[in-house]
Amino acid sequence: MSSLILNARWILPVTGRPIENGCLRIADGRIASVQRAQPGQTCDVDYGDAVILPGLVNAHTHLDLTAFRGCVPYLGAFTDWIRILVSMQTAAGADERMDEGIRVGLDESLAAGVTCIADIGCGQRATTAWSNAPANIVGFLEVIGMGPRRFDTHPRSLRKSLETCDAARATAVGDRSTSATDSCVSPRVFIPTLSPHAPYSTAPEVYREAMAYCRRHGLPICTHLAETQEEAEFLAHGTGPFRTLLEHRGLWDGSFTPPGCSPVQYAASIGLLESQPLLAHVNYVSDEDIDLLARHCCSVAYCPRTHRFFRHPPHPYPRMLARGLNVCLGTDSLASAPSLSILEEMRLFREIDPAVGDSLLLEMGTLRGARALGLENVLGSLEPGKQADFVVFPLTAPAAEPMEDLLRGQSSPLAVYVGGRAVAGHS
Ligand SMILES: [Zn+2]
Repeated sequence: MSSLILNARWILPVTGRPIENGCLRIADGRIASVQRAQPGQTCDVDYGDAVILPGLVNAHTHLDLTAFRGCVPYLGAFTDWIRILVSMQTAAGADERMDEGIRVGLDESLAAGVTCIADIGCGQRATTAWSNAPANIVGFLEVIGMGPRRFDTHPRSLRKSLETCDAARATAVGDRSTSATDSCVSPRVFIPTLSPHAPYSTAPEVYREAMAYCRRHGLPICTHLAETQEEAEFLAHGTGPFRTLLEHRGLWDGSFTPPGCSPVQYAASIGLLESQPLLAHVNYVSDEDIDLLARHCCSVAYCPRTHRFFRHPPHPYPRMLARGLNVCLGTDSLASAPSLSILEEMRLFREIDPAVGDSLLLEMGTLRGARALGLENVLGSLEPGKQADFVVFPLTAPAAEPMEDLLRGQSSPLAVYVGGRAVAGHS
């Protein structure tokens, strides 16, 4: 049995109040106790003026786009941005750059204290990187298929992604429902699954097959939804820039009937909401849409810096939170965000909404992300039995409120742990 006792000026368990002069005890890669340090008690590492919090959870990213950091300008039209991105993804040598991007993105995430990543990727290059990563990964294989190519065998087709997912499930680790102890190996989660891309790129019959697969195997499912007004126009009337994009690509063959409703109503009509999906963005929704999402216990990944990059109007998260929806945080890819740091997302969130409470903000960057992935019993807070995934940040003003200090400071982590094992940091 391996054990470790760590002290720090503050511990933020997320599910309880901040603990001053905290002591975190780890055994066999799991949290054994979280409490105040007792006078005279010895410890293995005393981080001093620092704060220990759960490893941050990035609920939405595309690490394979790390290679396109800052390269895809947004000139005011989302479909133009997609066109430029796709041309980069399909250029000569792009596969190698994207392979390297996943590795760099994983390192950058850990260095920023992100220990659980909901990553969207493609093919065996992604699943191999995910299965070897020291971080917790819910790896969503992207599924795209519209019009004449909806049951094709291109790399992001349903057929290819199902094959890749089947093969990767043999290397999956961790369990979404329990925190069973394995004393030999550091506990870690790797769950390969599927992400039908978006209503304008993925036919309803493809969504249904992907949903059936995820349901059959008890896997989480994720999709992009209600991201732009153009998507809403496409579903309501079958017109606009997405229709043009599909026509240019030879993907508009009359097999898709615009449903004449909102993206959220459309998702409900194809049965997607029954799967309690993780929905990326959800920027354009009515109160009725939000009620529908809340009734189905959906989760929404809000990506504040990407939201700003695309110059969307304010995100509807206040209405979502008011209706009890699980809103968590993502960075999205480096083609639209400046870094893979969830702490930076929390900082911008606080700037946008100074009234948002410390505990809610911290929960959105940790436990709510875990909940969105079906991992809330496994990680996302510092509680006995959970994986010992945590990050230690130095404090600049230890006597102040630790969250305020964390949001003000710019420092990188002293240490980052996954399953009780140090995987990054500079201490
Ligand atoms: Zn995305």
